[in-house]
Amino acid sequence: MPALTLSEISRRYGSTVAVDRASLTVEEGEIVVLLGPSGSGKTTILRIVAGLDADYEGEVTLGELDLRGLPANERDFGLMFQDLALFPHMDVFGNVSFGLRMLGLPKEERRERVASLLELVGLEGKERRSIYELSGGERQRVALARSLAPEPTLLMLDEPLGALDRTLRESLAAELRDVLKSVGVSALYVTHDQEEALSIGDRVAVMRAGQVEQVATPSELLQAPMSEFVARFLGYQNLLPLDGALARRLAPEAEGSGVLLVPEEAIEIDEKGDVEGEISGRRLRGRSSDLWVAAEGELLHVIVPSAGAEAWDAGESVKLEIDRKRMHLIAGK
Ligand code: ADP
Repeated sequence: MPALTLSEISRRYGSTVAVDRASLTVEEGEIVVLLGPSGSGKTTILRIVAGLDADYEGEVTLGELDLRGLPANERDFGLMFQDLALFPHMDVFGNVSFGLRMLGLPKEERRERVASLLELVGLEGKERRSIYELSGGERQRVALARSLAPEPTLLMLDEPLGALDRTLRESLAAELRDVLKSVGVSALYVTHDQEEALSIGDRVAVMRAGQVEQVATPSELLQAPMSEFVARFLGYQNLLPLDGALARRLAPEAEGSGVLLVPEEAIEIDEKGDVEGEISGRRLRGRSSDLWVAAEGELLHVIVPSAGAEAWDAGESVKLEIDRKRMHLIAGK
């Protein structure tokens, strides 16, 4: 039985439809990510699940229990936010044990629980550190330990890594996933960052204008996005209209008004390639570089290693080898 079920949830603010018949389940121990652009309804869903917003249509159930009317403080849910609001006047121990004190846990048990949580998040022995002495990443770990301490039935995380820089975010995302999986907590995680979503979620729900557009595992999403919106949101740039010359040649059997997704990973510059193009631009991006290649009326995005990329200047002719097996057809609506 799913830990949490959302059935046909809608929420309106005046004429704005913030959430539009959204349905979703979170299985026991599963991490489900709500991924979508700003304004797509992610926070509204989280607030409804948390019990902070009762003005919704549809049903939210925990196991078999309908949560409507159950106050936020009786839900046993944990929350972790971007502006994590640690208590600055308390040390690490005080922060992590805060919820345990509220639960009335005796001091010795609190000590043990805090010690094992700090070990879990890689801060063992740091009980007496002041919050001011911690780096941004360490504070995030304290916040995670604090939200896990009361052993919530569901942990909700709202852009928990949003305030950190890119490199730290990537390493913490992997760690965060490991911690959540080792505890086995069911989690609902909100982000607008596709890389973060794909590295943390067991499943990812892509939100668009209040609706859940697609829910799938990261691998399924990447291999078979069901709409152009999802594909673009995942970062794919080569979506060729089926009635164009290139798509017709690459996928002659395809019909209709859809688009052909050609993942960047499927394209290589190769003398033996059968697609002729001309470089129209190049941009350095660390160890890899972006090339844009004009070919048969389309502009293809190609990723190449930066080492040696200066060989490809605008105006030069290249041949592209495209792995047909990695292409994916997205049907039109
Ligand atoms: P996200 O978290 O994906 O950025 P939100 O759930 O915050 O999206 O918002 C969804 C939509 O609902 C947006 O159009 C937003 O402007 C609107 N909205 C959210 N909260 C309120 C509110 N309290 N009053 C009016 N409109 C709101």
